[in-house]
Amino acid sequence: MSPVIGVLAIQGDVREHAHCLEQSGAQVRLVKTVEQFQGISGLVIPGGESTTMSILAVKNNLLEPLRELRTKIPMYGSCAGLIMLADHITDGRSDQETIGGLHITARRNAFGRQVDSFEIDLAIPAIGAPDYHAIFIRAPLVESAADDVEVLAAIPAANSLTNSDQIVAVRQDNILATSFHPEITSDLRIHDYFVEMVRSA
Ligand code: GLN
Repeated sequence: MSPVIGVLAIQGDVREHAHCLEQSGAQVRLVKTVEQFQGISGLVIPGGESTTMSILAVKNNLLEPLRELRTKIPMYGSCAGLIMLADHITDGRSDQETIGGLHITARRNAFGRQVDSFEIDLAIPAIGAPDYHAIFIRAPLVESAADDVEVLAAIPAANSLTNSDQIVAVRQDNILATSFHPEITSDLRIHDYFVEMVRSA
């Protein structure tokens, strides 16, 4: 049976996620209002611009309902979506709200201007071999994570701009988040993984 998975459709690369989710075997619903929460069993928060997404979520009275929904169904955030799910942000707008729930601090635009966008092959044991070709666009970094957050992928210190591993994919119970954008590649393994999370929730 294919689960109905929503894509939050207030801002960002909504269509790309919808396309991948369909290919991963989900039925997709674009979600713009609280009424459309009814009957979805998972929700994707797409990449885009978290400051704009935050403003629109507040303006459309979606923030509190999203916080409540987050306690009920699995959510997956990519890039700006990761920021939206983070409990804490650094380098955000002073009034920037998040849905929260994911026990991390996310640093916005963490990779600096000269490497605004880059691609790297990442080992992600949770989705198996081969390495995943990950695309980063003005991406956030998981700067710190609580003990209940499982690190799914990190850019190894040797390849990173800093001298330590840089965490770029995490899972905490029913929350999945990636700094990168699987929706713009043809490798469906991240969406497959989320659809499976939804199926088994
Ligand atoms: N830099 C963006 C933000 O802070 C995220 C970029 C993206 O989603 N590609 O929201």
